[in-house]
Amino acid sequence: MPKFPPMASSRRKVASELPKAARRPAPNSDDDQPESRPTIWDNLSARQREEVEALAAEYRRFLSENKTERTVGARILALAKEAGLVDLAQGGPAPKGGYLAHHGKLFGLYAPGRSAEKGFNLIVAHGDAPRLDLKPRCLYEDGGLGLLKSNLYGGLKKFQWLARPLAMWGFCVLKDGREVNFRFGDEPGDPVLTITDLLPHLDSRIQRDKKLVDAFPAERLNVLAATIPTGSAKEKHRLKKTVKDFLYKKWGLSEDDLVSSEIELVPAGPAQEVGLDRSLIGGYGQDDRLSVFVALKAFLAGKKLQKPSLLIIFDREEIGSYGSTGAETNFVVRLAAAALAKSGAKDDWRAVTEALAASMALSADVEAAFDPTFKEVHDELNAARIGLGPCLVRYTGGAGKYGASEARAEYMAHVRSVFDESGVVWQSTLLGKQEYGGGGTVALSLAFHGLSIVDCGAPILSMHSPFEISSKADLWMTMKAMAAFYQKA
Ligand code: MN
Ligand code: MN
Repeated sequence: MPKFPPMASSRRKVASELPKAARRPAPNSDDDQPESRPTIWDNLSARQREEVEALAAEYRRFLSENKTERTVGARILALAKEAGLVDLAQGGPAPKGGYLAHHGKLFGLYAPGRSAEKGFNLIVAHGDAPRLDLKPRCLYEDGGLGLLKSNLYGGLKKFQWLARPLAMWGFCVLKDGREVNFRFGDEPGDPVLTITDLLPHLDSRIQRDKKLVDAFPAERLNVLAATIPTGSAKEKHRLKKTVKDFLYKKWGLSEDDLVSSEIELVPAGPAQEVGLDRSLIGGYGQDDRLSVFVALKAFLAGKKLQKPSLLIIFDREEIGSYGSTGAETNFVVRLAAAALAKSGAKDDWRAVTEALAASMALSADVEAAFDPTFKEVHDELNAARIGLGPCLVRYTGGAGKYGASEARAEYMAHVRSVFDESGVVWQSTLLGKQEYGGGGTVALSLAFHGLSIVDCGAPILSMHSPFEISSKADLWMTMKAMAAFYQKA
């Protein structure tokens, strides 16, 4: 998640109407504290353990091979086409469903089900992650070093990006329309890039005695690129020339082409297993590519759906969801209209808005896991625990639920009922203590259409860092939760 979190349908009885024996214990009753609850690991069969490991291995490859919103999107499209989905923007039938892509960074998928006019089961996630971008004019040299100027993208802790190996993933469009895609620092044999930090011997005035936010000004995040000068010692800007020559020889890019390029600096190296017991996955971009990965798997596994499924992977969530590929657009309306048209239902304004208002959604985004090292920021009763499964986060926001899209009680009842019926191990959580910060998700943007929505995702340690940590068991159970939602909600 950037920083904030399944209803009983009319055919299902509400809890108060059920006989006492059918009621489940409240998740947070005194004999059911998070510490004393069994973890997912406690109840896995040998076969399930194999499933967990296989899924985790596939997920690590997905994380390692898709470190930008564009590469995540390209992977989604490839898998959708492989599954027989067709372009919803084209005419013709879509018996297996279809996809809609916008500006190379925003993707929607549709799978048919019964009575589309009565609404969809929708899961939304985001494919972007906090990172550093190169500025449009970024090449310069100083003090014998060739350097690149970067720009923050999203809520990252700047000091975590210094003195560590970085890779550079680019998408560039030349004036004649040619497109250049590259990755540098993540290919076998590649060198890496890095941003230098100050040695502790000399940091007392400009770092150590300052507030964290002032100690690391964004304009000091300069990427070290070259030290071998080009040309004769009489010439100027010889290191800048080294970098320019490299860009031209390697990818055919001139300095001016960087103006029409999207070049992202991301942590170099693959996602890894973490822990003596290998129970965890460490890697960049798990917020929110964990949700993207499991939601996509769940979507593609759907069979004989009661209701049609939609999946949307947004861009720009980490910077407020604004812009043509973010959740603050009418993309969900376009996708719903296209899906209704393909299903043979009416697709006029009224039909589309009614179908959306009747839809049920999960805002799939990761949740901050309880970290005992930083206990004081968590409300322990409501904090997410590693290994206890996906979190249902009824509301996010900060300062008195400000900016929260709170799920109503009926919808919470429906989703927890779907999860329980499907054997999903899940937890009810909130982001942290009140008045300690806060955050939000795309749930708010989707709720604009009047649909039912709640945040749901796996707990993550070190969120927004270059090395985020998730649990293999939570990954697997979150996929089960998403599949149950598509199949039964
Ligand atoms: Mn997120
Ligand atoms: Mn985030």
